[in-house]
Amino acid sequence: IDSGIKEILNQLGINEINKGASTGSYWFNTRGEKIDSISPVDGQLIASVNGAGENDYEATIIKAQEAFLEWRMVPAPKRGEVVRQLAEKLREYKEPLGKLVSYEMGKSLQEGLGEVQEMIDICDFAVGLSRQLHGLTMHSERFGHRMYEQYHPLGIVGIISAFNFPVAVWNWNTALAWVCGDVCVWKPSEKVPLTAIACQKITAEVFAANDVPEGVSCLVIGDAEIGKLMAADKRVPLVSATGSTRMGKSVGATVGERLGRSLLELGGNNAIIITPDSDLKIVVPGAVFGAVGTAGQRCTSTRRLIIHDSIYDKVKDAIVNAYKQLKIGNPLDQNNHVGPLIDKDAVNMYLAALDKVVEEGGNVLVPGEVLSGEGYESGCYVRPAIAEAENTFEIVQHETFAPILYLMKYSGGVENAIAVQNGVPQGLSSAIMTNNLRDAEKFLSAAGSDCGIANVNIGTSGAEIGGAFGGEKETGGGRESGSDAWKVYMRRQTNTINYTDELPLAQGIKFDL
Ligand code: NAD
Repeated sequence: IDSGIKEILNQLGINEINKGASTGSYWFNTRGEKIDSISPVDGQLIASVNGAGENDYEATIIKAQEAFLEWRMVPAPKRGEVVRQLAEKLREYKEPLGKLVSYEMGKSLQEGLGEVQEMIDICDFAVGLSRQLHGLTMHSERFGHRMYEQYHPLGIVGIISAFNFPVAVWNWNTALAWVCGDVCVWKPSEKVPLTAIACQKITAEVFAANDVPEGVSCLVIGDAEIGKLMAADKRVPLVSATGSTRMGKSVGATVGERLGRSLLELGGNNAIIITPDSDLKIVVPGAVFGAVGTAGQRCTSTRRLIIHDSIYDKVKDAIVNAYKQLKIGNPLDQNNHVGPLIDKDAVNMYLAALDKVVEEGGNVLVPGEVLSGEGYESGCYVRPAIAEAENTFEIVQHETFAPILYLMKYSGGVENAIAVQNGVPQGLSSAIMTNNLRDAEKFLSAAGSDCGIANVNIGTSGAEIGGAFGGEKETGGGRESGSDAWKVYMRRQTNTINYTDELPLAQGIKFDL
């Protein structure tokens, strides 16, 4: 491997990755299948890791259970202090970790660094939260009684994550779970094991310095089989799973079967409605970044533009023109706009979707292709494509995790555009570009967008950590990150205390002995 990446791995302490448990946190990955980490940037094998076997999973869960008994009794603000130090450590490691995210996953360096910044932000948020995990007090109907509710730690939080946000999603979950007094067992995407090890190493440094019990942060690297063990495991009260709808249906059903709790963050099919009163200056960059940023591999990527027929041609021409300016290439080179897809399977899905849209009667405006030649040796670089399509096409109803943008027209009022926007099985992110207050408010009303995220004059992609993140319908209904998303990581208890020497029953019921 080239010396640049070797240096980055060294800075992150990744050199002998199969050594087993490390102080302050736990990872045990020596008995399962070998997993190769291949960079989509240049097709090089970065490193191989031994994945976890069933025995390793078992040992990890036992360790996590033991750790929970201690960690749950550490005062929440003290747990917050540990998370504060993690944010400090992440600031130190921002550059190499961001670069590794970019190199292993293929997103632009700016986005890699942005992902680490998101980790820092959620840690900062969680520190404040550690003093605000409060319930309500209520008035009892009974004389001399007091009622209140409190939130207690839940136990082991199982985290299953997708390849496209290899580090931030983990920290969205862990930062909150840790201040809530939970312990975490992480099964990252098998496509990006090295960034996971880097996170675990950084955490280990902080945890060791604070005598955090071994097992509060655990990592089990493996494929879907490890995820399935976790979903079926009664010792894991909450499974937070990010990935495809197919995965979510499987995890949700298995966790539901045992009446566990799942937090599902699944696929999107995000649209921007563009009304006659929209400002093209905002529309074009918003739509283009949304569609081609991260090579269309964000759950919030823009897949559909729903454009009013009176401005359709103007918007179409502007977007097609903007696509001509796109530079595709190495994401670590900041002059490029579009990096590679994650692997060749993703490239094949992109090609199949382009065939399908034509087969269903779509009209290709910007053709796609797989790029070859110097700089494109990995075979994962594709040209972002645009097609005119109907919302009812089968392929449009599905999320294709690649830079393919579908254009469609609406006529009449904004209600018609909202019906199209909502007319897909997914419900993650949505946006309207308009300067018309009435249209904007209709879009945000109860009869408006049915998505978990609805934006005005902002594209669909890129959320801030302060709000709750997630979506409806086949996106899974989970909420992570800001607002009151922390509550899912805790169990709620209602307490009633009688400070009299009598025992009045609720609802005035008499029971005389
Ligand atoms: P994926 O579903 O293939 O894999 C995600 C994770 O689930 C991986 O760790 C994988 O090993 C595991 N997994 C797969 N099948 C499983 C099963 N049956 N049981 C348990 N675990 C299983 O998804 P991907 O290709 O890594 O990521 C892309 C998808 O993730 C897209 O659909 C994207 O929209 C979605 N995503 C959603 C969000 C969100 O917050 N809503 C964020 C990022 C990505």
